[in-house]
Amino acid sequence: MQIIRDPDALGEALAALREGGGTIAFVPTMGALHAGHMALVAEARARADQVVASIFVNPTQFGPNEDLAAYPRREAADAAMLDKEGCAILWAPDAATMYPDGPAATVHVSGIGEDLDGAARPGHFDGVATVVARLFDQVKPDFALFGEKDYQQLLVIRRMVRDRGLGVEIIGVPTQRDADGLALSSRNAYLSDEERLAARTLPRALGEAAQAIADGGSVAEAIEKARGRLEGAGFESIDYVELRDAATLLPMTVLDRPARLLAAARIGRTRLIDNLPVNPPETS
Ligand code: AMP
Repeated sequence: MQIIRDPDALGEALAALREGGGTIAFVPTMGALHAGHMALVAEARARADQVVASIFVNPTQFGPNEDLAAYPRREAADAAMLDKEGCAILWAPDAATMYPDGPAATVHVSGIGEDLDGAARPGHFDGVATVVARLFDQVKPDFALFGEKDYQQLLVIRRMVRDRGLGVEIIGVPTQRDADGLALSSRNAYLSDEERLAARTLPRALGEAAQAIADGGSVAEAIEKARGRLEGAGFESIDYVELRDAATLLPMTVLDRPARLLAAARIGRTRLIDNLPVNPPETS
C-alpha cells in the first residue's frame, strides 16, 4: 500500500491504478480505525478492483468546543490495518493540502443536513460535505462507502452527490457493534470503564423502542421510555431521540413507511450517536 500526502503523487498513483480500466472504491475516514471502518474496506474490495482509503481529521467538521485536539490519531497502526485488508492507496493529506487558503468555498446541503446533528452541531455537515466533495475531486472514485452508523451523514452525502451530479455511487454499510451492542466508534476510546458500561444502554434503549414501535406501540411513548432509560443510565444530556422517515429524515409520528430511530446523547465528555431501522409490518 502506498501512503501518499501530495496531490500530484496521488494523481499519478490513481492513473496507474486505473490502467486497464479497473474500478476504484473509496473509503474516507478520520483514522483511529476499528472493525467498523474495516467493514467498509471489505465491502469496497467486494465492489471494485482497487480500494483507496483516506485519513484526514477534518477541522471544519468540528465545532469550536468539540474534540478536534483530543481526537485519536494513530496513523501507523491504521496504515497496517488498511494494508492487511488489501487497500492500494492511503491518501493522508494535511490541512494545508486540503485547504491551501482556508476553506472558503463550502458546500451546504439544506433540508436534510440542517436538522438533528445539523442543528445540534452547527456547521458540522457543511464541513463534512465540503471535505467529501474535495476528496471526491481528488480521488474520482467509482464507488464510495459510508457507514449507517452516521446515518444522517450518509443521506447528506447521497443528496450532495445527486444534486451536484458527481457520478459517484454511494454505498451504505450496516453499523458494526461490540458484543454488548454498542456501535463501534473512534470516540468510544474517551469512555471510562464506568461510562463504557453505561453506554450500552444506548443501543438497548433504541432496540426496545424500535421493537415497541414496530409492534404497533405509540411512537411518542416509546421515545419517552427510551429517553428515561438513557437518563437513568447516566446520560447527562440527550440531543435527540427521534423517529424519522428513512429516506428523507422528515419527522414521523405513525409508522406508515420505512423509518429510522436516531439518537444522540452525552455521557461524561463523550457524545454518542446511534440509529436503527424500524419497518412497518409487511402488508400483502
Ligand atoms: P469516521 O472515521 O468516524 O469519520 O468514519 C469513517 C466512516 O466509517 C464513516 O462512513 C462512518 O460512518 C463509518 N463508520 C464509523 N463507525 C462505524 C461502525 N461502527 N459501523 C459501520 N461504519 C462505521
